[in-house]
Amino acid sequence: MTEPAATASDPTSPAGDFIRDLVRRDNEQGTFGGRVQTRFPPEPNGYLHIGHAKAICLDFGVAQEFGGLCNLRLDDTNPDTEEAEFGDAILADIAWLGFTPPAPIRHASDYFEQLYDWAEHLVIQGLAYVDDQDTEAISAGRGGYGKEGVHSPFRDRSPQENLDLLRRMRAGEFEDGRRVLRAKIDMNAENMQLRDPVMYRIRRSHHFRTGDRWCIYPTYDWAHGQSDAIEGVTHSLCTLEFDSNRPLYDWYLEHLPLPGDTPRQTEFARLELTHTVTSKRRLAQLVLDGTVSGWDDPRLPTLRGLRRRGYPPKAIRDFSAYIGVTRTNSRNSIELLESFVRRELNTTSQRRMAVTRPLKLVLTNWPKDESGAPVVEWCTATNNPEDPDAGTRQVPFTGELWIERDDFAQVPPPKFFRLSPGREVRLRAAYFVTCTDVVKEADGEVAEVHATYDPASKGGNSPDGRKVKSTMHWVSASHAVDATVALYDRLFSAESPGEATGNAMDDLNPNSRELITGAKVEPALTKTAPGQVVQFERLGYFAHDPTEPMLFHRTVGLRDEWANIQKRRA
Ligand code: ATP
Ligand code: MG
Repeated sequence: MTEPAATASDPTSPAGDFIRDLVRRDNEQGTFGGRVQTRFPPEPNGYLHIGHAKAICLDFGVAQEFGGLCNLRLDDTNPDTEEAEFGDAILADIAWLGFTPPAPIRHASDYFEQLYDWAEHLVIQGLAYVDDQDTEAISAGRGGYGKEGVHSPFRDRSPQENLDLLRRMRAGEFEDGRRVLRAKIDMNAENMQLRDPVMYRIRRSHHFRTGDRWCIYPTYDWAHGQSDAIEGVTHSLCTLEFDSNRPLYDWYLEHLPLPGDTPRQTEFARLELTHTVTSKRRLAQLVLDGTVSGWDDPRLPTLRGLRRRGYPPKAIRDFSAYIGVTRTNSRNSIELLESFVRRELNTTSQRRMAVTRPLKLVLTNWPKDESGAPVVEWCTATNNPEDPDAGTRQVPFTGELWIERDDFAQVPPPKFFRLSPGREVRLRAAYFVTCTDVVKEADGEVAEVHATYDPASKGGNSPDGRKVKSTMHWVSASHAVDATVALYDRLFSAESPGEATGNAMDDLNPNSRELITGAKVEPALTKTAPGQVVQFERLGYFAHDPTEPMLFHRTVGLRDEWANIQKRRA
């Protein structure tokens, strides 16, 4: 892990980085006539994850900062794995993250016709040929590092013959896989990508946009740079694994009659996070084998999952700005991301009281009304001490309350300052109470705690300056609403899943989710909007499930684990 030493500094403006420096230099030198255009090019074969968020913040962010443009372009060159549903979800997730791609959304398939024309151009120039070899023969002929490639027996076909064969490929004369179109570059190039790469394959697959119009499909490399050029992209930003594709990207562009500027590819490091995976393939596996409940499972680092978990999009943007972009692959701490989530939620989320593992607290001196029922008193509680505009709310208080089982100890261990026999504590916004007695079940388990309250301590204020060491949350037993609370732990136990065995799944944490069904919460929580995040006092931030009423997902706890990690490292 290589985070910059974290200060609590405010990450409102993106740190300088080598990509922004490069764009600035290009602008100074007038490289693209001062134009800045980027694009975000996901393949519509899965849902976006936190790694994509880094790329989105960079692509859209650079365009915004330099007064440029950033297209969303779906890289739909592989009809076998792609679906319209994914494209729609990608657009929705980008919007949620806070960016608005200009209309219309672009697709690599918009350019199939132009790409094909350019392929004929290369054929006519003697720079591409139709190869009749099968996949294995082509792969064997490529050679390897330090091993020379072998020319295909079809490499020296005439442009005329190649043009004829390419047209017949397109017309559907040959069966799938029977022939391919390859660029004629250099079979001994040190860079394997340049050893006559495949440009087109024959594949009779239904495409979600072009239907059955095509039976040949371009490869990623043949489509990507050309799509950039067609759109007028200046800075084509992608992740480091495409480093070795760059010479090919440049070769294609150099050999085509381009309409405008030649785009330039620049690579940056992927985002990886500790205790999770950011690979669509692995995420898909977790969804398909039922390890998680779906693409929006709150444990997944997908944008849908993070959203359901309660992550504010601003926290993700701030995190992306803070970690910046470099050319060194590394893994960022998930605790750092969480600290941005906590920081944001601290200022935006309202406080509520909820008891996850209830224990009954009976106030033996609490007044009763004429009918013998305990009096109900309404306490004024602050909605958010960080936000004066958030106001207050009324919380019902009576003689029977739920408190957290963990907040009581019959025999308090050292440094335990919460309730125990003879001890006085404050109930938030209500009263001071002193524990007087404990009622037990037959098996010795504590069934009920008895206490007396001090009527002079209304509002939780000390009547005479005497101090208590603990302030506890509570819920009136007769007003409490039942809720289900989902607590989450790391999805993978290891910091770098798969590092030890090579298989990330070996490091799955079998206890990554704990569902607590018997939680008791204050009535105001029934008015929580779907998706809204609140702070359960002393327990953490919780997101109301978007569809299931009274289900709350713990977003993050209250303790800043990132600060602790920093302290341990110092
Ligand atoms: P995966 O490897 O998970 O399948 P991918 O890179 O194939 O992801 P794409 O849909 O092709 O997914 O990605 C779209 C864009 O997002 C690309 O420019 C890619 O470089 C970038 N991207 C993908 N994963 C990350 C990541 N972990 N960190 C930063 N950028 C990423
Ligand atoms: Mg990809």
